[in-house]
Amino acid sequence: MRSLATRYALATTPAEIVEVACLTALSSLGDAQVDTLPLNNAIVQENWSGGHSPNPTWSSVGSNGILLDLRRLDSIAVSSDGSVASVGSGARWGDVYAALDSHDAAVIGARLPTIGVGGSILGGGYHHLSNEFGLAADNAKNFEVVLSNGSLVNANSGEHSDLFWALKGGGPNFGVVTRYDLYTVPVHDAWVQMTVYAPDDAPRLLSAFDEWQRSQAADSKSNADLIISLDFVVLILVCSEPRAQPPAVFQPFSAVTPFQLAIPPTNLTLHQIMTILGSTASGTPARHDYRGHSSRIDTNLTQQVYSFWREKALQVRQATGASQTFVVQHVSQHLIDQASKNGGNALALARGPQQWWTTTIDWERAEDDDLVRSVSIEITRKWERLARERGLHLPFVFMNDASRDQSPLASYGLRNLQRLKQVSKLYDPSQMFQMLQNGGFLLSKS
Ligand SMILES: Cc1cc2nc3c(=O)[nH]c(=O)nc-3n(C[C@H](O)[C@H](O)[C@H](O)COP(=O)(O)OP(=O)(O)OC[C@H]3O[C@@H](n4cnc5c(N)ncnc54)[C@H](O)[C@@H]3O)c2cc1C
Repeated sequence: MRSLATRYALATTPAEIVEVACLTALSSLGDAQVDTLPLNNAIVQENWSGGHSPNPTWSSVGSNGILLDLRRLDSIAVSSDGSVASVGSGARWGDVYAALDSHDAAVIGARLPTIGVGGSILGGGYHHLSNEFGLAADNAKNFEVVLSNGSLVNANSGEHSDLFWALKGGGPNFGVVTRYDLYTVPVHDAWVQMTVYAPDDAPRLLSAFDEWQRSQAADSKSNADLIISLDFVVLILVCSEPRAQPPAVFQPFSAVTPFQLAIPPTNLTLHQIMTILGSTASGTPARHDYRGHSSRIDTNLTQQVYSFWREKALQVRQATGASQTFVVQHVSQHLIDQASKNGGNALALARGPQQWWTTTIDWERAEDDDLVRSVSIEITRKWERLARERGLHLPFVFMNDASRDQSPLASYGLRNLQRLKQVSKLYDPSQMFQMLQNGGFLLSKS
């Protein structure tokens, strides 16, 4: 039988090269760590539950390749003084909040339990408490990373500070993160309310949302999530401390009457809030996409784009059954300022309050892909054109909401893009992560 070295030398096709790579991994790590043919397809193709990016090939390899499944890197520990939570990158946020709940601790993560820790922090990480404490990445104390040469390094403000900066928003370009050490935040119980409205209420809710965005600076503890679908609108209000009464800044929303009080005003732990929100999340149709865009806050602009979106999304649903959402996320100056307390991040956010739009799209048939995706693509084009005309355009694209054809890394601006490329060349001189990764927002493509 030929040795692995000989087989490697003789391998020419991608399938042969992958086979040798898999056998090499098997011989050095053993079959408890490495699955080869026949594969457990539930693991290889499982998506939308960790592996949460819907972009094809971001967390899957198709028929040729090696999938690094990090799910067993799921340890969660809190330092003895409670100030830092060390979280394995294969954990999901639901597990993290559950584990921290028993320590009376919390971190800034993402808002649904099924989202993976690994990718969401590398893209930034937006949470209900971000307007007060910043993005998840801005609350990282240390990243433990395996580099392309196999060495394990810790990147933090003292060691490898350039890599530390780059990992905060720079995505999967520098190494495989195996552990995140995250500063905990002093929040346990939070005030929450979730209401559901008829779709006809969406324009009035968007106006209320804009009014709240303008007054939010006065109360960075408040956060509102507005999720508009074709059939109903969900409003989730969170305040990062227990309250007996709704915070006064939420007053604009009281002008619109909900048809359902899904979570009556109450105080819950962050873990309880996440569990409830997870139970209301949609099922798992076969195909998914999302898309991101940003602009300054302007009611007329938002309303105009929303009515365009609704018309298009209804037409496409009639033709394909696709469901789509229209979601606006508030980003305050207070959020932006939190980056600088911890060595900065790669995002190069413009100063001043802004809104990050996103959509989640679910549909069934591959033949509908182009038609279904055309709605969000047209929306972002229209949004950009209208915003440019009014001086309200922002180039930033949030990586965690970005679709396969968007370029979040380029949206950070030339200076930061070049700095990210320098860090990549320093820590990955062979550019392995650019050449051998199947997908992902790569610097080589930005
Ligand atoms: C319904 C829904 C709700 C969402 N809500 C939020 C939210 O509240 N806040 C928010 O910020 N985002 C949110 N997201 C976006 C989410 O953060 C991104 O999809 C993110 O990429 C998910 O990370 P993951 O590890 O689950 O994904 P994956 O698909 O596994 O990974 C995404 C990318 O990161 C890379 N990657 C993953 N782990 C590592 C690692 N350890 N080291 C190096 N590279 C790695 C992968 O190679 C891939 O390129 C939401 C997405 C959906 C679909």
